[in-house]
Amino acid sequence: MCSTCGGTGYYRLDVEFGHPQFGRVIRCECKAREDVERLNRLSGLTATERRIKLEDIDTDGLVATAAMVIACQRFINNPRGIVTIYGGPGNGKTMALQACINAMLDKGVEAVYITAFDLLSYIREAFTQDRATRLLNVNDENAYMRLRRFERIPVLAIDELDKVKVTDWVLEQLTDLIDRRYRKAEDGQGGTLIAMNDDVDSQPSWIASRLKRYTVIHNEDGDMRPSLSQYEMNL
Ligand SMILES: [Zn+2]
Repeated sequence: MCSTCGGTGYYRLDVEFGHPQFGRVIRCECKAREDVERLNRLSGLTATERRIKLEDIDTDGLVATAAMVIACQRFINNPRGIVTIYGGPGNGKTMALQACINAMLDKGVEAVYITAFDLLSYIREAFTQDRATRLLNVNDENAYMRLRRFERIPVLAIDELDKVKVTDWVLEQLTDLIDRRYRKAEDGQGGTLIAMNDDVDSQPSWIASRLKRYTVIHNEDGDMRPSLSQYEMNL
């Protein structure tokens, strides 16, 4: 049992009425540690990915990559709205997304990184479609709750949005999620990062039009995987 908070996770400072800290509830150090561990588990990042920072992205002579990093730094400073990054494989888009999520987690902000492939797996797990009525039923409560969390979480990064081929109701669910993230952005309530290889306009027009109301970065720099593998070797 924690001697500071007695296990409740909160305590009040023993100060007199009128003191600026009077009545203020403090999050106990013991739970703050648990919070960090919980955030790390929630993040969707491996221990190695959890260490990636924006500074790790090689921008030397890479104008578009440098612009991408600046946009990400802006997002970290003010994680609102939507930032969409597109461009060929291996130019640091994934690292950029993961670095943003890491920066959020380091500030104690709930943030999740997920690939569109995993996201769609959750959608498929969560629902079954009734063949006769075509209505969706919740199939797996845990998967369903996970999806709802992706809608509510303050910062969400969806990677490889165009790596999945989706049809009808799966697309509906994906569109629904992006719509909720979009409305969150409109309310100034949260931020979403999206990365993909193809042009934003390759997305269904409904999704593309929403993404284009916010920041869209085209990283046209070439493959930088050689320097990425160097980075991994230096870890
Ligand atoms: Zn405590």
